[in-house]
Amino acid sequence: MSTSTTAWPEGVIARYLTVGSATADVIDDTAPWRGGVSHHLRAACTGELCDWRGRDREYWFEADENPNGNDSFCHTLERLQVIAQAHAEKCRAMPRPTADSSNVSR
Ligand SMILES: [Zn+2]
Repeated sequence: MSTSTTAWPEGVIARYLTVGSATADVIDDTAPWRGGVSHHLRAACTGELCDWRGRDREYWFEADENPNGNDSFCHTLERLQVIAQAHAEKCRAMPRPTADSSNVSR
């Protein structure tokens, strides 16, 4: 693994470098819920003021269930990767420099 790249935010499972040097991310936000784990699949661009979003979907799985065995889940994931890559190829919004780390939301 290259050490020159910064660590990806939690939940990011695929990243596409945009024309403007931002990234279009495919994100899987997981959270425990009673009896299992929820997976919130979405895509977002990190370019400043770029409000591009992939259509998100949320899935709930039992604790012993493998998400990769769910066709709909896998299909949504593949679809998000395709549209994130397509967005990355044309987005020119640049990321805002993160000099002030206290300004990070969440
Ligand atoms: Zn963008």
